[in-house]
Amino acid sequence: MPLGPALTAALQATVVAGARTADAIVVGAGATGGLAARLLTEAGLRVLVLDAGLPRSSLRTLGRRLSHYAARRLLGSSGPKVLNRLLSSPIGRNIIARRQPIQSRCYAWPLAPWQFVDDVDCPYVTPPGHPFVWLRARQLGGRMVIPGHGRQYYRFSAGDFSPADGLSPIWPLQTGELDPWYSSVERRLALAGMRDNVAWQPESELARVLKPTLAEAALQRSIIARWPYARPLLGRFAPPPDDLEAAARTGRLRIRQGAIARRVDVDRAGRVRGVTWIDQQAHAEKSSDAPLVFLCASALESTRLLLLSGSQQSPGGLGASSGVLGHYLMDHVRLRIEGNGSKQFSEPPDEDGRCLYLPRFDARNSTAPEQRRGFGVQVFQLPATDKRSYFVAVSFAEMLPRPENRVTLDPKSRDAWGIPVLHINCSLGDPELTRAREQVTALRELAEVAGVTVTHIDELPPPPGSANHECGTARMGDDPKNSVLDPHNECWEAQGLYVTDGACFPSQGCQNPTLTMLALTARACDHAMRTTHGR
Ligand SMILES: Cc1cc2nc3c(=O)[nH]c(=O)nc-3n(C[C@H](O)[C@H](O)[C@H](O)COP(=O)(O)OP(=O)(O)OC[C@H]3O[C@@H](n4cnc5c(N)ncnc54)[C@H](O)[C@@H]3O)c2cc1C
Repeated sequence: MPLGPALTAALQATVVAGARTADAIVVGAGATGGLAARLLTEAGLRVLVLDAGLPRSSLRTLGRRLSHYAARRLLGSSGPKVLNRLLSSPIGRNIIARRQPIQSRCYAWPLAPWQFVDDVDCPYVTPPGHPFVWLRARQLGGRMVIPGHGRQYYRFSAGDFSPADGLSPIWPLQTGELDPWYSSVERRLALAGMRDNVAWQPESELARVLKPTLAEAALQRSIIARWPYARPLLGRFAPPPDDLEAAARTGRLRIRQGAIARRVDVDRAGRVRGVTWIDQQAHAEKSSDAPLVFLCASALESTRLLLLSGSQQSPGGLGASSGVLGHYLMDHVRLRIEGNGSKQFSEPPDEDGRCLYLPRFDARNSTAPEQRRGFGVQVFQLPATDKRSYFVAVSFAEMLPRPENRVTLDPKSRDAWGIPVLHINCSLGDPELTRAREQVTALRELAEVAGVTVTHIDELPPPPGSANHECGTARMGDDPKNSVLDPHNECWEAQGLYVTDGACFPSQGCQNPTLTMLALTARACDHAMRTTHGR
């Protein structure tokens, strides 16, 4: 899906300057917003997508083109190459990073800095000594179209939805209830992977069943020889979804780019009425009406919108009477090891996202993972030189939901459009720090088994947010007294308002989260069609 920098013709035709009314408004055109737009348009609704990202044909693209043209004139055909090298050199990156001190901490930032937000325009506040790395993309496709995206998709297990340790609430879902929604999303994504039959990592529907390459099979054998109970699977991956294009093809999609949602509007009877937004270029406030609104702006942006949507009935924001709005922020504890692999691992992988996945690698020495929070590891082996391969293994561990890890609106700071910004207060607790030490040990052991010469290892976890898997702050539940959203992701305090990105997660498992967000989005669209639109 070549979104981000360039729009396909089908999408170009859907871009509008303004739209007053629609059957449904979707805020955000990333992973979840794209899917919501697709499913609602396919079900017959006229959908307006409001997305904060500006079209790429703006001055910046022109500036980049002009500088490439100038470089070509000055230095001949190698000019653009020299310019790119200069921009990606430490000096060039330092210059660009001045406006992106947060975004430049993402491993994928050097590949396409312009696909991340400008931190000066889009600030947030953290307390001294408690950094949070909030990584964001404002563009059609959201973060899914950033080059270097992991492309990993794994289902949650029954134990993730119903944790037995009492450290997080049970999700408001029946056992197996999400399975058909996972399947429908996986079919759309066209997942590649292998059938694995591992009790603690549910199977997925695969469009392409792969076989391990010789190098992958060799590494799998080495891992099993050392840890007979470990289950090294082939990673499950897919290219970026093409949901927005599919929605465009229905003829019922309208997209308004550069529309920064500012507030959700709700009538006196507690039904959603529409969205007030800022026209980014005109700096003017506008509004659009619809009886159905999906907030899909990414977990913290959606919660920011709920906090900004206070009224006389709910002064602290929509959903605030539960007392949990903004609370229970989580992000995976991510640790990484890199090194030079041996020649036998230098076989090129087929495509982006191809890796080995070690589910619940914390339990590598036991017959089955205990009912406790754990971590998984993704192992990538890439060709580097004739003699060596590049090895990188990334481990994601679950973070517990804690009320003190929370976001609020900062009373003083505003972004470039005058909208109050988030104050994010989030720290790792003792359980995460203990697990991080276990992750470091596991990564070292793994590198040893793979015969890797280690060139870098994270000895300590980076600040929360760095894993890009932020979730929580508007949790779903079956009681309005302790949740913001009902079991179908509809806001208890605003009929017709659904929040289906990571904000709704009551806990986060240790799997990459996007597949679960998409399954919940699909289920919520079905619910909305049956209730709000009575179909
Ligand atoms: C480098 C990288 C690698 C990753 N790898 C994986 C992986 O392997 N597996 C995985 O599961 N996840 C991965 N993730 C995380 C994944 O990308 C996110 O979980 C997913 O994109 C979340 O989808 P979303 O729809 O909630 O938000 P996003 O995709 O972030 O999209 C949000 C959208 O909302 C819009 N928006 C924001 N604010 C507003 C506003 N106020 N008004 C209007 N529009 C707004 C933005 O323009 C954007 O289009 C990765 C992320 C990164 C950056």
